[in-house]
Amino acid sequence: MTKPFYITTAIDYVNGAPHIGHTYEKILADVIARWNRLNKKQVFYLTGTDDNAQKNVEAAKEKGFPIKEFVDKNAKQFEKLCKEYNISNDYFIRTTSQEHIKKSQEIVSEVYKKGLIYKGTYSGLYCDGCEAFVTEKELTNGNCSEHNKPPRSIKEEAYFFKLSNFKEQIINWIKKDKPIIPEKRANEILSRLENEELKDLCISRANAEWGIDLPFDKKFKIYVWFDALINYLTGAGKDEKYWPAEVQAIGKGINWFHTVIWPAILFATNRELPKKIWVHGYFTVNGEKMSKSIGNVINPLELLEKYSADSIRYFLVRENSFENDGDFSEEKLKSRHNDELANKLGNLVSRVSTLAEKYGLEKTEIEIDSKEIIFRIEKNIESYHLDKALNEIFVYVDKVNEYVQKSKPWETKDAKSLYEAVFAIKNIAILLSPFMPKTSEKIAEIFNFLIDIKELNKPIKSTKIGEIKKAEILFKKIQ
Ligand SMILES: [Zn+2]
Repeated sequence: MTKPFYITTAIDYVNGAPHIGHTYEKILADVIARWNRLNKKQVFYLTGTDDNAQKNVEAAKEKGFPIKEFVDKNAKQFEKLCKEYNISNDYFIRTTSQEHIKKSQEIVSEVYKKGLIYKGTYSGLYCDGCEAFVTEKELTNGNCSEHNKPPRSIKEEAYFFKLSNFKEQIINWIKKDKPIIPEKRANEILSRLENEELKDLCISRANAEWGIDLPFDKKFKIYVWFDALINYLTGAGKDEKYWPAEVQAIGKGINWFHTVIWPAILFATNRELPKKIWVHGYFTVNGEKMSKSIGNVINPLELLEKYSADSIRYFLVRENSFENDGDFSEEKLKSRHNDELANKLGNLVSRVSTLAEKYGLEKTEIEIDSKEIIFRIEKNIESYHLDKALNEIFVYVDKVNEYVQKSKPWETKDAKSLYEAVFAIKNIAILLSPFMPKTSEKIAEIFNFLIDIKELNKPIKSTKIGEIKKAEILFKKIQ
């Protein structure tokens, strides 16, 4: 058996409902998963929830729910998010599952037996928002820069993982294998590794009521990040058969965990390392930081009452480059939906199908050169520049619209120019399918072709008058 293309997202805290950032990450990974399936690769796509975090406990208390009930209820929202947005994950992992508890304890024991875990005292700062031990140096005016709150000072008996042992190995891995994209995120990590002391990592929590028992000392729970990272192994199929991951999509805030702590765990247990860590930026809403107190958090499930999943998928990917922070605004979503999806793509399909019903399609030599454009689209997807790939697809849409405008088949009744247009629409639908799967299927149905990579640039059939039917509207304009 060849190993499938294994792709993961981060697992989400279930202390609240999903927001647009969660949605974006799952869509990014979904486009890559679908692209690889389109290219006949076997794919295994993993996403899920981090149920064990202490902040889930705090949130449950605040809302007056028993923790298990609260976590189950919120995790369902994330599963629903995947379903409603047509995320093609092959598995949804929850860190409260028995299989994950078992795997985490197995790995921690493995590290312990190697003599890489020792007992000591942790005395220092802890940010509950990050679920992380932090140092004075990382603070901005005494606050965690991620959460804008002062961390708590704690002192407890603790177990430590000899993270410091792995510093050179991690630096070499980042420099030689270049696993982190974009490069600026690799440089951030390297500069910290090269300029600061890498301290051993506290991997236990004392007096915690929620979480996974530390297998060799049950008075303690496993520090939540240590167990959370292991989800990628738990979810990798029987005996971790899909590991290593080809790509792991994460947000910039958890880069350190994935490119320092995670590789150290893998080095410590003689496992292979992921091939790529794909780090995306954060989202603001209308230019402001997303926050519950401002009340500007967008619920992606509610957004679906007004826009289709495909429109939102298109907007989020097209509007933002993963390398930088993105911004969400409904005005921009609406204008891309109306101007690009309805006016450009929707009108093209509607116009060409209407004329093809009247005049049929007649085979001809293709004039619009698509090879160069297809090449650029493929290159952009393969280098994870999905926004650029979508931009190129719409350059193609524009070309076809111009062609139709120029050749005026409504006047000439020329079935050959309609053939040319449908040929290009087929290419567009195939290339668009990882981004907008439902829309592509609809277009394929209208013109009776298959969404298959082998069909790219392949001739289509001539059709008689009436064989293709005028399409229903693909995108209704939103006022
Ligand atoms: Zn924090």
